[in-house]
This record gives sequence, C-alpha cells and structure tokens, in this order.
Amino acid sequence: MPDNCLFCKIIRGEIPAAKLYEDEDLLAFRDIAPQAPTHFLVIPKKHLSGPAAVSEEDERIVGKMLRVGSEIARKEGIPEFRVVFNNGAQAGQTVFHLHMHILGGRDMHWPPG
Ligand code: 5GP
Ligand code: ZN
Repeated sequence: MPDNCLFCKIIRGEIPAAKLYEDEDLLAFRDIAPQAPTHFLVIPKKHLSGPAAVSEEDERIVGKMLRVGSEIARKEGIPEFRVVFNNGAQAGQTVFHLHMHILGGRDMHWPPG
C-alpha cells in the first residue's frame, strides 16, 4: 500500500471518512465534495492506480464493487444512480487509487461534459 496514497490512508484509518460499508476486499464512504444529494465512493483495499491498472486477478473485486455499490445505493434510497470511473487526469481522475463513484438523488444528464 503506497504510503502517500490518500485512499490507502483512509483504508488504514489515518484519515477519517464517513464509512458506509467495509469488508476484507472493499471500503465505501461518502465523497467529501458531493456532486449529487447522495454521492459515495467504493474502493478496493488493494491499491490499484485506476481502471486501466485492473488485471485479470482483480476481476472478482471489480465485479464485487458493482454488486456492493448497488446494494448500498438501494439502502441509501437511490435505486436509480449514476456509476462513474475516471481514468487519467484528462478524464477527471484526481486520486490515483481505483474508485467507483455512485451518484443519485437528482436527474442526471448525458453527455456528462
Ligand atoms: P476522481 O476525481 O479522482 O474521480 O474522484 C476523487 C474523489 O475523491 C472526488 O470526488 C473528491 O471529492 C473525493 N475526495 C478527495 N479527497 C477526499 C477525502 O479526503 N475524503 C473523501 N471522503 N473524499 C475525497
Ligand atoms: Zn492507494
């Protein structure tokens, strides 16, 4: 786990977060700067720099991110939601630890801009 990775620090408990779910593989917590009434992140405990760093051995965990994220969304009262993964700075990635955004509670627009 990289020492200087923000999300690894949240996993280790060195930085506080509003946690929604945790197990041996994943952590979910509210985004600090929500872009919708409900906005949370689901991350693997294994440090991967982003979507393009996912390898075959990570496929189970990435599928689990979707399953668990959907279950949290339902519990949070947003059965309809947007899922976003940003890959690279040009796409808007600012934290280089794989994370899945789930946003809901308002109308979403397409294209996202
Ligand atoms: P990205 O732009 O890399 O796809 O998304 C990173 C997300 O992490 C952003 O939505 C940002 O608001 C969120 N974020 C950045 N720092 C923190 C933090 O310290 N705590 C929490 N909970 N979210 C953070
Ligand atoms: Zn990390």
